[in-house]
Amino acid sequence: MNTEIKPVVIVGGGLAGLTAAWSLRQHNIPVKLYEAGKQIAGLAGSFHDPDGFTYDFGAHFVTNRLAAAIGVGALCRNVRYYGETVYLKGRNYTYPFGLLQNPRYVASGIASKLKRHQPKNAAEWYRAEYGQTLANEVAIPLTEAWSGAAAEDLATSVGDKLQAGIAQSIVHKLMARFTQRAVTNGYSHDMPENPHVWHVYPKGGLGLLCQKLAEDLQDCIQLESPVEAILVENEQAVGVRVKGIEQPASAVISTAPCHILAKLVQGSDAVKPLSSFKYRPMVFVNLRLHGRGLLSDTVVWTPERDYLFFRLTETPLSMPWLAPEGKTLITADIGCEIGDEIWQMSDEELGERCIEHLREIIPDARQRYFGCRVLKTPIAYPVFLSQYEEHRQRLAHSTGISGLYSIGRNGEFAHLLMEDIYWRTTSKMRQLAANLN
Ligand SMILES: Cc1cc2nc3c(=O)[nH]c(=O)nc-3n(C[C@H](O)[C@H](O)[C@H](O)COP(=O)(O)OP(=O)(O)OC[C@H]3O[C@@H](n4cnc5c(N)ncnc54)[C@H](O)[C@@H]3O)c2cc1C
Repeated sequence: MNTEIKPVVIVGGGLAGLTAAWSLRQHNIPVKLYEAGKQIAGLAGSFHDPDGFTYDFGAHFVTNRLAAAIGVGALCRNVRYYGETVYLKGRNYTYPFGLLQNPRYVASGIASKLKRHQPKNAAEWYRAEYGQTLANEVAIPLTEAWSGAAAEDLATSVGDKLQAGIAQSIVHKLMARFTQRAVTNGYSHDMPENPHVWHVYPKGGLGLLCQKLAEDLQDCIQLESPVEAILVENEQAVGVRVKGIEQPASAVISTAPCHILAKLVQGSDAVKPLSSFKYRPMVFVNLRLHGRGLLSDTVVWTPERDYLFFRLTETPLSMPWLAPEGKTLITADIGCEIGDEIWQMSDEELGERCIEHLREIIPDARQRYFGCRVLKTPIAYPVFLSQYEEHRQRLAHSTGISGLYSIGRNGEFAHLLMEDIYWRTTSKMRQLAANLN
């Protein structure tokens, strides 16, 4: 181990922070990782209850390629099936085949391709890409529900999240049927997807990924140690302050949300514009029900605005081991704001409200229901408002402070899934190690 240089300090012990620490260790760079919470894993943690149910923040699908890269490939189960539908006006449309069979959507999609113009915001982007009808009835209401913002106020880059086109979706669906594995579609943008990349789930829960990364890092991880300040001198990150004590650093890697990073940095104004970046808080109501196969597919999108939720996921349809036999789990995703009615509502009332709204989709939902477990996060989705798009694009290149890196889903302010976090972080750490060495 190279002890000549000061350690690289990592802020946060979620997947990004642990990948950074593990990766730098591989290059013999000394590291120190501070995690504010009592445990590692952040959004990639799972929770189990004594009745045999497993809950994640949202539903989590990871790839065999990520599991193999982390070294837990042999400890994962294959996911054989994954599917999505859109529930609209009392009907289920499978994605993408069902939507493609609706002549209204196809006709308006073709019409929009004929009169292409440069879209100025997300609403225009959806209409140009999918046609007026599909955009207005499905894509725009769903985007507004998860983001909490009007599609006219969102940047066109919201569409980057949906890079996997319809043609790719069809090919991957067919490959999944042929191989009996849930071939991924749109889960990795940094590495090409192909029929050899499919969904898996770690035995014992998602947290296994982070546990494996942390295995050889025990000596450098400090839990319950929130970083209070990142110290910058002459536009160079030189250290952090933790529990009132200053720690020198050769570089600082932050995985904290951007608006928090803006508050942490002392000695520079370079990241001040990040303070206005907005994240969408989300409440996940995990409804426990008798029976299985109650939804038409693993994920059901509900774009109609009178629903409390915009997405329902019956994870046991893809991962039967997440609920005991004869029972199932349906997760309702509800966008909200911190402190609003939804955020403050009791678990019981959230469960009741969801069951009330579910009755149209599952008529006997109430008879099947036997309680829920609620998870909340203030930072589920980065919201790409046009007003700070220029700063967001600048952040994609650099924080503007030498030796300060902002990585991970909330650090990069990007809709990253775990595999992309892993590849992007290992690549950045390789470069950093080369510079430091
Ligand atoms: C609803 C939802 C569904 C998802 N579904 C999938 C999926 O199916 N497949 C997939 O691959 N990915 C999925 N993801 C994405 C995945 O969960 C995240 O990308 C990933 O877990 C983020 O890891 P991270 O390390 O970047 O951030 P986090 O997990 O947020 O970790 C950041 C850590 O930093 C700590 N921290 C913050 N500030 C400080 C401070 N000042 N000092 C010290 N510590 C600090 C926090 O406590 C936290 O532990 C989903 C995400 C959501 C929200």
